[in-house]
Amino acid sequence: MQYRDFGKTGLKISALGFGAMRLPNIMNVILEDEAIAVIQRAFDLGVNFLDTAFVYGESELVCGKALKKYPRDKIIVSSKNPMWDKNYTDTHWRRKLELSLKRMQLSYFDIYAVWHDVRMDAYLESKKVENNWLKEALKAKKEGILKHLIISCHDTPENMIKLFEEGYLEGMILQYNLLDRVNEKVIEYAHNNGLGIAVMGPVAGGKLGSPSPEIQGLIPGGSKSTAELALRFVLSNQGVSTAMSGMNTVKMVEENCAVASSEKPLSEKELKGIQAALDEKKKLADLYCTDCKYCMPCPNRVNIPANFSAMNSFRLYGLKEHAKHVYKHLTERKASAEFCKECKKCEEKCPQKIKISEQLKEVALTLKETA
Ligand code: SF4
Ligand code: SF4
Repeated sequence: MQYRDFGKTGLKISALGFGAMRLPNIMNVILEDEAIAVIQRAFDLGVNFLDTAFVYGESELVCGKALKKYPRDKIIVSSKNPMWDKNYTDTHWRRKLELSLKRMQLSYFDIYAVWHDVRMDAYLESKKVENNWLKEALKAKKEGILKHLIISCHDTPENMIKLFEEGYLEGMILQYNLLDRVNEKVIEYAHNNGLGIAVMGPVAGGKLGSPSPEIQGLIPGGSKSTAELALRFVLSNQGVSTAMSGMNTVKMVEENCAVASSEKPLSEKELKGIQAALDEKKKLADLYCTDCKYCMPCPNRVNIPANFSAMNSFRLYGLKEHAKHVYKHLTERKASAEFCKECKKCEEKCPQKIKISEQLKEVALTLKETA
């Protein structure tokens, strides 16, 4: 396993982190014992970072049980405080922190996302509240309950950098993968300023887990799997401290650990080749649909951008299994292309002037036929 600096915190974090969002998962029949075995296999193979959150169902409880077998200082443990109920007071924030610690049977967190999925407008609003959460977060750090404060964010790269400029954060959890490189400038900023970066979604929430000859063939000689190339791509960015993967099986843990243990990042030439090919594909995808959502809502509940995104996955990235899966899910919710009644109300709102109803027919034909 490779270990990297998490900014200037002094923590040596494993290049592969364990994201415990989906463990345990009753819907997919991953029960507690199995979840614990998967997490512990990762620890035994050198993963030393475990990330969970207050809102991940039973995850904190199960992670706490998985940790019991290991000396406390061997694993870097992180959780996140949700602020989605818009109660920004110090007491409310503290109650959630203490409940997370209690569930996990811990006395401190090494890393703590003071706000789970922060948006700048809500952040600024929260700071106007008297006795707000931030004072409590800084106090908890002084008390030693929280060793390092970070934040998790899906906002714009500009707002992410503004959050760093607040001065108290030592790192950030953000999205980054082969298909979504918009946060590269934030990663670069963090790297230049000694801040840690934990990447969520290195395989695009499982999207890059399905086979794709197009993506696997982006490097000379090809890669064993789409997921392998996706992980190698993320870890080749030296600003990334750790890539958190939501692993459901021991097999997945073993495969990912093998990739994260390899000292060979992608070469400069390979990276440039991948970036150029992806930029080209992205341009084609943008011509097709930019996901601006101006066409929504459709009176017949068709999720237009989601259908086009599935089609792009199929046509441009060769992610056929993933595209079929998404389309099937849309059909179950009566939101797939085949529910379009060709009223064309959406077309006047599309800045790309896409002939939406015509294109949806093609989507239905392609994805329904192959479903
Ligand atoms: S043309 Fe189809 S997708 Fe567009 S608004 Fe009408 S029913 Fe919805
Ligand atoms: S308005 Fe056009 S470009 Fe925007 S999401 Fe709808 S179809 Fe895509």
